[in-house]
Amino acid sequence: MPLKSFYTLKTKAVPARYGLNKNIQDLLIALDDHHNGSIDAEEIGRLVRLSPKRRAAIANTITKCANIIKNQPNEIPTCVDVIEMCTELLEIADRKSPVDGFPFFRLPMEIRERIFALMINNVFRTKSVLPASNRPGPCKCPRFDRDNTFQTTQMKDLKRIFGPNLITLEFYRVFFRTKTFRFRCPCELRSHLTNNNILFDNVRKIVVQWSGPEAAKTFQLLKSVPKLKSLGIVISRLTYIHLNERSALMKSYFPLAYKNTRLGDVLGLDELLEIRGLNQVEVMIAHSSRGGTQSNEMDRANLLDLLSSRLTQPKEYDNDVEL
Ligand SMILES: [Zn+2]
Repeated sequence: MPLKSFYTLKTKAVPARYGLNKNIQDLLIALDDHHNGSIDAEEIGRLVRLSPKRRAAIANTITKCANIIKNQPNEIPTCVDVIEMCTELLEIADRKSPVDGFPFFRLPMEIRERIFALMINNVFRTKSVLPASNRPGPCKCPRFDRDNTFQTTQMKDLKRIFGPNLITLEFYRVFFRTKTFRFRCPCELRSHLTNNNILFDNVRKIVVQWSGPEAAKTFQLLKSVPKLKSLGIVISRLTYIHLNERSALMKSYFPLAYKNTRLGDVLGLDELLEIRGLNQVEVMIAHSSRGGTQSNEMDRANLLDLLSSRLTQPKEYDNDVEL
């Protein structure tokens, strides 16, 4: 038993005479255990760090001993012992942990991906995610309310948890592969695809409401999204506003023939039909609050037929790839 120990203090009735509270007594007992080798420094550190009251008890005990020294010189050796034990406790508690974080990258890739998937599902309980737009942009498409967006508080915290390093990159890779990303218009989708390389390289499932002046360029771009496997097209009244170049020209000469816009004349259809290599194609009617109407049902069913028959063909048969 070392000279300085809680056991020795107890034989001199120090806890009672000095009025040491339970918090400091527990810590001094833990320090004895540490000296005996039954608990490690980490454990002492946790005991002190996890309770502000325990840390305060150490400071109070030091002050108490300093006052005793002033009035009772015969207690000096004992007080010095107590003060030294207290400073040792503080020193152990403030010692930097020998392991600088958990060695996450030593885990096999499958386990890491599984952990990321659990984190992702914890943050986003739904299957689909709506990316929040960072900047408003020139797009005039209607802005519907959004929830469950991409930049949630938890997602913003990620950088602080992981740091701007490989883990963040790997996390996003898993994130973009597992979730379905919904976009309110092709302009928004195009902006995300051009500004976010990790999204472009990894996204597998996209749902987009077909509307606006950027539909052709966006669907053209979708053709080169390397891992895209599932595409959902949402049609609404807004879909019929922008015509492709030829139809727009014809409409200006033959307005009566274009009294009712046909889906085949809509901007973007030609580019949509060029996409290949998908496993799944869906066509949906937008919710009535977002311009969807049951009169689009025929178009929905026919478009689904048309897209399914072409977009699921393998990429090899695409003329552009063969060049
Ligand atoms: Zn738009």
